Amino acid sequence: MKTVVKFGGSSLASAEQFKKTAAIIKSDPARRYVIPSAPGKRFPADMKVTDMFYVCYAKAEGNEKFQKELEQIAERYQEIITGLELELSLTDEFAVISENFSAHVGVNYAASRGEYLNSLIMAEYLGYEFVDAASVIRFADDGVFDSEKTNQMLAERLKSLERAVIPGFYGAFADGRIKTFSRGGSDITGSIVARAVMADVYENWTDVSGFMVADPRIVDNPVLIETITYRELRELAYMGASVLHEEAIFPVRHEGIPINIRNTNSPDDGGTWIVESTCQKSKYVITGIAGKKDFCAVNIDKDLMNSEIGFGRRVLQAFEDNGISFEHMPSGIDTLTVFVHQDEFADKEQKVVSAIHRLVKPDHIEIEGDLATLAIVGRGMKSMRGTAGRIFSALAHANINIRMIDQGSSELSIIVGVANEDFELAVRTIYHLFVDNYSTN
Ligand code: ASP
Repeated sequence: MKTVVKFGGSSLASAEQFKKTAAIIKSDPARRYVIPSAPGKRFPADMKVTDMFYVCYAKAEGNEKFQKELEQIAERYQEIITGLELELSLTDEFAVISENFSAHVGVNYAASRGEYLNSLIMAEYLGYEFVDAASVIRFADDGVFDSEKTNQMLAERLKSLERAVIPGFYGAFADGRIKTFSRGGSDITGSIVARAVMADVYENWTDVSGFMVADPRIVDNPVLIETITYRELRELAYMGASVLHEEAIFPVRHEGIPINIRNTNSPDDGGTWIVESTCQKSKYVITGIAGKKDFCAVNIDKDLMNSEIGFGRRVLQAFEDNGISFEHMPSGIDTLTVFVHQDEFADKEQKVVSAIHRLVKPDHIEIEGDLATLAIVGRGMKSMRGTAGRIFSALAHANINIRMIDQGSSELSIIVGVANEDFELAVRTIYHLFVDNYSTN
């Protein structure tokens, strides 16, 4: 068995948390490759070390004094080293960082040091080999992650290493310059390493016991999702972002390696399994509900639209030319609606409207804002008659007006548009329908 384990910032924020992490790693010999994040918050008002590095480097780049900020970061690490009773000294490392900051080596380098230093500590504490991500994770010259080159370099490097610690979040260009992934990117590194070593499992350790069926800020104590497929998770993308970086599923998905989300503070919980496919039915017909507020619907009417070849393409071109991505596009015979994010669209709305007029000569365009969308997702829905009917009648009973319905051809999800102000009630209504009323399902 070969398991790759990634630990998030809250799992490594203090010596206490490091001890829990090490106990988890040592409790299973299969946990051979470890991907640490930078130290996260120790308490709610605390600052993540990555953010401290950003602040510190901004001063360096502005030719201001940055030593005080760098010392505060060094103290965070020293607290961990002392708490773990290690001999390790990071003095030389901080001297190099200080020099590089003065030379303005770049913000990516600065941000990456959080993971780099934490991994040095972790490697020392576990007695594992340290492998710098800069030597094995490669970005192409255009800044895009080079998955094939990376896979080859990593597989080669780790082939002969029984156990290793590899910092998350960053890699390097061929010339050695450091480049980071987007925020939360250590999740991606873990997935890349799991692929390269052909791991049996990729464990992602965080501070929650997995994905919940609904957002706990909206529903009290929602139940946990035990198993979810990659595709379902993509449909629930709005929900997952705070638990797992949305790009983290792609490298392991490539190889059919399951991801197990686990809780460092409650290691006996089984967590959530993210798998390619499963014959396990989800208990509640639906696997999860997620949604987001603040969408705009752009309704376009034109008689005989249905027989006009290229109509849809030209409408979308108006959005593309203005750099706006669309979220959903339900259509009727003579109408087509494009759902876009309000914040992206607001500044450009009149430009888009005139582009649509120019491109498709519509009869009428109407824009409606302050809409929310809800994705009700479940692999079980396909084989269950009446799911949509139950959703719509429950929403009607809750006095919620449905503004849009979209069911993907995969029958994996039903998307419902409602007014922003009805959003929370809609989520609670659907949760109640499928989970609280489980016995009547
Ligand atoms: N430390 C980085 C961040 O704060 C990356 C990560 O934690 O995954 O975004």
